[in-house]
Amino acid sequence: MEILNQFSVDIKSEQVMERLHLGKDNKYIGVVQELMGEIMPVIRPKAIYDVMFVEHIDKDKVDIGGVQFTSRVLRVNLDKIGRVFPYIVTSGTEAEEIKISDGDLMGKFILDAIKEMALESSSYYLYEYIKNKYKVENMSAMNPGSLEDWSISEQKPLFSLFGDVEKLIGVRLSDSFLMFPIKSVSGIYFPTESSFASCQLCPREKCPNRRAKFDPELKEKYMS
Ligand code: SF4
Repeated sequence: MEILNQFSVDIKSEQVMERLHLGKDNKYIGVVQELMGEIMPVIRPKAIYDVMFVEHIDKDKVDIGGVQFTSRVLRVNLDKIGRVFPYIVTSGTEAEEIKISDGDLMGKFILDAIKEMALESSSYYLYEYIKNKYKVENMSAMNPGSLEDWSISEQKPLFSLFGDVEKLIGVRLSDSFLMFPIKSVSGIYFPTESSFASCQLCPREKCPNRRAKFDPELKEKYMS
């Protein structure tokens, strides 16, 4: 198991404005700069991952690290895979200390965007770090709750692979299996020849986070 907690977070005000679809001369540039001044010195994203092996596979069950996961799609993805990399990445608890007054919706929106960008850059760093360290050419990930087929309740067994995650990197699970800090991502990376994204099997319309086109035929293949 390895913890990464020295991410260099390099986000510029202009990038935040772009993320928020605000022109660089927009009146909110001052608010963005002010919040950046508060958040950047304290934000500390963290990640934890481990190298584990697929121990047993059966219909819609996969055993990894002595823990059983239930998902047909995960099982199919890991059919011929030996080594996998369970992981959790977070924007960190430190940024949660910055409080915005309830009425300041734009302030909350901006703060959220900054934390999300820090999470994304740390996730990308972790992805590249694992790929380089373990000489994996291409990896895809699955995340509990991203598909109906892999329930969000499977966060619990995923977290159990690491022990006390809250103590290790500050991420806790709520009773409904949501992660806090909310800007956190958990999943399992696995080597792939062709990239896989859960979005390919997800028919949800107008999802702002869609990363790949829905492919009904591929979904059929996974489920048959
Ligand atoms: S389309 Fe949206 S909801 Fe569906 S898997 Fe992708 S990101 Fe998740």
